[in-house]
Amino acid sequence: MIQLIKGFKDIVPGEIELWQHIEQMAVELFETFGYHEIRIPIMEKTQLFARSIGEDTDIVEKEMYTFPDSKGDLITLRPEATASIVRAYIQHKMYAGDPRRKFYMVGPMFRRERPQKGRYRQFYQIDLEAFGIASPYIDTQQIHILHLLFQRLGIKDCRTHINSLGCPECRPRYRELLLEMLNSVQGKLCSDCCRRKDRNPLRVLDCKVPSCREAVANAPELSDHLCRPCRDHFNSVLSGLDHLKAPYILDKRLVRGLDYYTRTAFEIQTSALGAQSAIAGGGRYDGLIETLGGPPTPAIGFAIGFDRLAEIMSQLSKSSQTGSVQPGQVDLFIAALGDLAQDDAFKWLSALCEKGIRAEMDYTGRSLKAQMKQADRLNAKKVLIVGETELESGKGILRDMSSKQQQEIGLDDIVLTIPQIFQT
Ligand code: AMP
Repeated sequence: MIQLIKGFKDIVPGEIELWQHIEQMAVELFETFGYHEIRIPIMEKTQLFARSIGEDTDIVEKEMYTFPDSKGDLITLRPEATASIVRAYIQHKMYAGDPRRKFYMVGPMFRRERPQKGRYRQFYQIDLEAFGIASPYIDTQQIHILHLLFQRLGIKDCRTHINSLGCPECRPRYRELLLEMLNSVQGKLCSDCCRRKDRNPLRVLDCKVPSCREAVANAPELSDHLCRPCRDHFNSVLSGLDHLKAPYILDKRLVRGLDYYTRTAFEIQTSALGAQSAIAGGGRYDGLIETLGGPPTPAIGFAIGFDRLAEIMSQLSKSSQTGSVQPGQVDLFIAALGDLAQDDAFKWLSALCEKGIRAEMDYTGRSLKAQMKQADRLNAKKVLIVGETELESGKGILRDMSSKQQQEIGLDDIVLTIPQIFQT
């Protein structure tokens, strides 16, 4: 039997209802805040990700699914959404007139990481981006939106970590300081960090290898070396959060795994998922749109790990009834016995579904017992039983599956009466 690719997964009925519920809540919230859906391709030219995410990040160095197409052009399955949304913004000149645009998207991403609980090679993100707004209000607002969403989904175990990563004005000076310090502890750094530190010393702060963590324990903090405008911006974001009573943790070590971030960076962490603690992350990337060929345009966004969110919600619904989402229930199951009854049942089913009634039948004409079992399995609210006798008398039997009560029902106008029954 051909199995799934390692690190990929199916989301089957029974699970998908929870995903649909989460997506619906997110979309509703995002649209209230003026964000609009954008759909971007699953594949892009490799260069787009290499230039935006950064050549010496884990994602670009090790994790991208990149391959040449039949003409030899290098293409990559998208590892994240921001780069593509920026490309679309520039390509369609969406900045013309008013550069302020707010987008959201939901969809699969691909990274060839080591699979484990909460970490997949195809995973889903819920992504939010605001372009053209430099104001710290929007930073505060995006974090607020995340809080609102988690609150509405009933997720309590989460903390917001926040930091400022400075800008091209103040970061280079800090970079020099950090590099000096890293050179003094070079012997303790892992091989990746030794290789990357000269080009991108901030990466080392993000390394999870214990010896690297220990080596940088006393490293200078970027937030102590911000220029005045970055400091003012960060303070405004924090006081905005204070006003909204949105709790956060100042985390001077938060650098995030992508190169394009500037100023505000944030991550929502939880202890509900073991090692994979981040359920959402984002930040400002004021230089990216220009780097990719657009006009200088400030921007900020975040991505939620959909799989992780669904896992937390599923744990919650197992431990209590909160957050539990039931699979869509069948309204009417038609148990038809014999070919003639099956023909009629099929006609009724088609007409009823057209009217919005969730109708189902057994397409094989098995015994009544087998059909009733199927109705039970589908969690049907009512069952219409029709055999030869019922066809002759023009009256079927309508059984309510929870009260177990049965009543006769005229078959001639069944397509009209059934919707009325479900309306009352
Ligand atoms: P990032 O794009 O790396 O900032 O990730 C944003 C969010 O996506 C993270 O906080 C995770 O919740 C989720 N995420 C990232 N990588 C994976 C993965 N391999 N499997 C599942 N979720 C992931």
